[in-house]
Amino acid sequence: EGGRILSVRANPLPGGGVITLYTDITERKKIELALQEAHERAQAAALEDELTGLPNRRAFFQFGKHMLHQALRNRSTLSVVMTDLDFFKKVNDTYGHQAGDKVLVYVSKAMQARLRESDLIARIGGEEFVLLLPGTSIDEARRIAQELLALIRALAVPHAGHTITLSASFGLTSIRPTDPNLEALLQRADHALYQSKDQGRGRISVYTD
Ligand code: GH3
Ligand code: MG
Ligand code: MG
Repeated sequence: EGGRILSVRANPLPGGGVITLYTDITERKKIELALQEAHERAQAAALEDELTGLPNRRAFFQFGKHMLHQALRNRSTLSVVMTDLDFFKKVNDTYGHQAGDKVLVYVSKAMQARLRESDLIARIGGEEFVLLLPGTSIDEARRIAQELLALIRALAVPHAGHTITLSASFGLTSIRPTDPNLEALLQRADHALYQSKDQGRGRISVYTD
């Protein structure tokens, strides 16, 4: 604070001796620092979903990769819960896109409030969320999904004098020692989610071979 940053350069003279040049680079350094900060903020922001404030798809893969490798290394369990809101297009069509956005915020907050600090929840698509639950067996994951489904069903989102209600479908799977990457886990969860949709929505399916 108040101090100056100097760049010191010693130039040898042809006839012997040295001439020392001092340049005040305080302003330049200030700008460099500010730019660095802005860059860090931008990087952080690029990991956050703007609407809901949840980690985004990119963040999911970035953090999730570590969680998967840690679980594989420690031979501990890890479950994935994928969820997609049912008939969400109808919310937009009936009440407008803004109402849809509001619903997404409500759903995000409700789910986030139920989870632990160590759980990762991300918005990986429009109305699609994924949860990574370390140290959580498939049975525990199912119970959590049941609670989340109940929470989502209990939501009453007020909008322009209306009350919007919802349901969601879930797909679950747990880690296998042979899982090469997150994509493998997600594929199984997605498959199970598709089954929930297919069987009438508003339900939870666990992946089976
Ligand atoms: P399903 O039960 O099969 O999942 O039906 P759905 O209507 O939920 O699924 P579909 O994939 O047909 O539609 C998803 C809709 O989500 C379409 C798109 O307009 C809406 N959507 C995606 N992202 C956003 C968003 O950020 N805000 C709003 N308001 N709507 C979004
Ligand atoms: Mg949907
Ligand atoms: Mg969808």
